[in-house]
Amino acid sequence: MEVNKAQKQYFTQKLMQWHAQDNDRSLPWKEETDPYKIWLSEVILQQTRAEQGLPYYLSFTEAYPTIQEMAEASDEDVYRIWQGLGYYNRCRNMLATARYVSNELKGVFPNTYDDILALKGVGPYTAAAIASFAYGLPHAVVDGNVYRVLSRYFGIDTAIDTTVGKKEFTDLANELLDTRDSAGYNQAIMDIGATVCKPAAPLCNDCPLQKKCVAYTNEELIKLLPVKSKKVKVATRYFHYIIFMHNNSIWIHQRTGKDIWSGLYEPYLIEHTSELDRKDLVKLKPLNEMVISKNDLEFEGELSQRLTHRIIKSRFFSVKVSAEQKRYFTGGKWVKKAELQKLAYPKTIVSLFEKKSYFY
Ligand code: SF4
Repeated sequence: MEVNKAQKQYFTQKLMQWHAQDNDRSLPWKEETDPYKIWLSEVILQQTRAEQGLPYYLSFTEAYPTIQEMAEASDEDVYRIWQGLGYYNRCRNMLATARYVSNELKGVFPNTYDDILALKGVGPYTAAAIASFAYGLPHAVVDGNVYRVLSRYFGIDTAIDTTVGKKEFTDLANELLDTRDSAGYNQAIMDIGATVCKPAAPLCNDCPLQKKCVAYTNEELIKLLPVKSKKVKVATRYFHYIIFMHNNSIWIHQRTGKDIWSGLYEPYLIEHTSELDRKDLVKLKPLNEMVISKNDLEFEGELSQRLTHRIIKSRFFSVKVSAEQKRYFTGGKWVKKAELQKLAYPKTIVSLFEKKSYFY
C-alpha cells in the first residue's frame, strides 16, 4: 500500500515532538546505555507487559549487575528469579546467551545488528531495540505497539501475521525512523502505542497524530486494525498432579524436553485427554501398581492457567506413601517441605504450594 510522503513526515515530526514534550512514561531501563541491561529488559518484556516485568528487571539487575555474574549463576538460582514470568524458554535462552557472551566473547556484548540478531532468543524486534538503544544504530522496532499505531494512522489493512504484512510494516517503520535519534524514535513509538493508541479505547483526543490519522474517530476501523489473518486456536490440556508424601517430604521431578515448563519442577503428573476423578486415577500407573485406593487419595483442589495457545486445567491430589512404596519412584527426588522453596516451579504449582502452606 502506498502512503503519502506528507503523512509520513507529519508522523515522525509529531511523534518526536510528543516524545520531547509530553511523553512522561518512566521506566528504569529508559536512558540506559549498558547493552547487558537493555538486552535483559527486552528479554523480560517479550510477551510481558512493562508493569509486570518491572520487578523482575529490578531483581535481576540487583542479583546480577553484570552479564558475567549472570553467566556464573546456577540454573536454579536464575530460574527462581524468573519464576512467575512464564515462557521459560526465554529464561533458558537468556542464560545461554549470558554464558556465550561471557565465555566466548570475553564479556563484550555484540555491537552490530546482525551479531545481536545471532544471539539465542533474540529476534528482529529485540535486535533493533538493543542496536538502537545501546549503540544508536538506525534500526526501527516493530512490535505489537508499532503494528497498532502504524496500521491505524496509515489505515493499513494488510494482515500483520503474514510475510507480506511483516515486510510492509518493517519497511514503513524504517522509512519513518528518525535516524538522528533512532533510540528516541523507537522509544517514542512504543510509548505512544502503550499509553495513547492503546488496543481498546485509544486516547485519540490526546493523540498528537490525530490530524492525519486515518482511523481517528472511526470506531469500526479502530476495532478492525491491525488485521490478523489467523485466529489462535486454544486447546485444553488436563493435568492431574499426585502429591506423594512420605514423612515430611514430597516427590518432585524436573520437566525436560520441548514441552511447556521445561526445566521447572512439579509433583507426579498424569496427563490425560479429559478430566479424571479419583476412581479413574487409581486405575492408572503408578497408583494401581502401588495398590492405592480411591479413599487414600485426597483431593487438594484445582486450578486453571491460560497460556498463549493452551489452557492448562490442573487437579491436585495427595497421598501418603510408605517407605516400601517409595521403590516405585524413579527419576525424581524426595524433597523436604522446608527445602521446597529452593527450586523453581510453574505458576500453577507455586499457587498450590502457597495455598497449602507447603513452603512454610
Ligand atoms: S488518533 Fe487515535 S487511532 Fe489514530 S494514532 Fe492516535 S490514538 Fe491511534
